[in-house]
Amino acid sequence: MLRLVFFLILTVTFQANASNNLPDLGASDLKDYDSQTETLLGKSFSTALHTQYPLIYDATLLSYIRRIGEKITGETGQNRHYSFFIIDNPTINAFAGPNGIIGIHTGLIASARSEDELASVMAHEIAHVTQRHLSRTYENQSTASTAGIASILAAILIGSQNPTAGVAAYMGSIGLNIEKQLKNSRIHESEADYFGIKYLNEAGYNPFAMGDFFDRLSKESQLFKNTPPEILMTHPVTENRLAKARDRAEQMNTQKALSYDSLKLMQMRLAFVSQTHTDPFENSQLKPEHACYLRNLKVLYLPNQDIKQFDHQCLEAIIAKNPDERVYKQQLIEVKVARQDASALLDLERLMDFYPSDFAIPYLYAKSLAYLGHRDKAIELLRNRTPNYHYQYLLYSTLAELFAQQQQPRFSYYYDALANYNIGNIPKTHRLLKQLEPMIEDKKSTFYLKVSQLLQETEQTLKLYKNDR
Ligand SMILES: [Zn+2]
Repeated sequence: MLRLVFFLILTVTFQANASNNLPDLGASDLKDYDSQTETLLGKSFSTALHTQYPLIYDATLLSYIRRIGEKITGETGQNRHYSFFIIDNPTINAFAGPNGIIGIHTGLIASARSEDELASVMAHEIAHVTQRHLSRTYENQSTASTAGIASILAAILIGSQNPTAGVAAYMGSIGLNIEKQLKNSRIHESEADYFGIKYLNEAGYNPFAMGDFFDRLSKESQLFKNTPPEILMTHPVTENRLAKARDRAEQMNTQKALSYDSLKLMQMRLAFVSQTHTDPFENSQLKPEHACYLRNLKVLYLPNQDIKQFDHQCLEAIIAKNPDERVYKQQLIEVKVARQDASALLDLERLMDFYPSDFAIPYLYAKSLAYLGHRDKAIELLRNRTPNYHYQYLLYSTLAELFAQQQQPRFSYYYDALANYNIGNIPKTHRLLKQLEPMIEDKKSTFYLKVSQLLQETEQTLKLYKNDR
């Protein structure tokens, strides 16, 4: 009988609405650990995320989250693969999935009071990965496929279905001892705090932010008397845990506190790009820079706005004072593009040289080129640049779109296939390539060779999935 090695994911880190608990569930037993399986499960998990959940694809927000993530993972002393996603879900939550997938709910971004708080939860999740808490393995004789399991895990982690019932049913179905899992999860929590606070500090954030954030959420949920804890979620933010977090932070050689401005801007952005958040700053007193950003966001994102309402002068003044404020610089470019000001393209070239690893900039550049009527140039830019960047899904999808607009369906299929390949959606990649192959007349062309090579590779991966059953 074929054996399925599978990773039970823990970490629904916290859901402030549900209770004052930390419902991390999981266990670690690495004896059957196998990296091919983790990669496969990671791909299926990422596919489930992209096909079943509302993700935020805003390049500026994604690259902001990735920058925080990379600061932290850079301090873990491990060189492993991570990817960061934003789920459009108002619950305060984050999770670590298989193969270094870190998911951040928009509710978490919206509720953090500082970038340190947001980073503290990310550091905690990253610590679950470095400590391999997730790679709980077990033997499953069931007929579930990797893709099926990944979907169930996503549902549990993201909690779009009732997470408690989901976890209980799931654990029962695989014969796990729930008591034992809960005990293990407490140990894991404590370890994730321990290492997370260390990474947080080393990445230049305030090491007290983790304890403070958990404490505040716990107090707020008590204050508002939210739903009482359910048995599986019993994972309290105890005094002991908070004291430990404080002690741990005190051991740290606290780095100079930096002033982070970007979180507030990202929270504003969220209100315009998310389906589940509204503008939280509508009636609040804002610092002049923040008000400037918000003013321009409104003209950029709300329907029927007059471009005369853009306030580019305030952006120019902020940038003149703080030349390193890339979020403002990017907004100024967006404003220029919307006003059909071609000098935006020169600014983008400079920005690309300045931040060579930030995929949000070539993305913005390509979008701007296309908007200003240079679709060919946009295509050329993305084709040349995309292989160098993280999160190629967004860039390849844009290429597929641009080729579709150019009435070049073969390239559109090809880049759509690459986009799907990039997020691990092997079945869809395979389908697209199968459709594309007969459309290519010259069977000796390099294009045909590339397509058939990728087709072979996806066929091999699909076989691996089938062997799982
Ligand atoms: Zn946790």
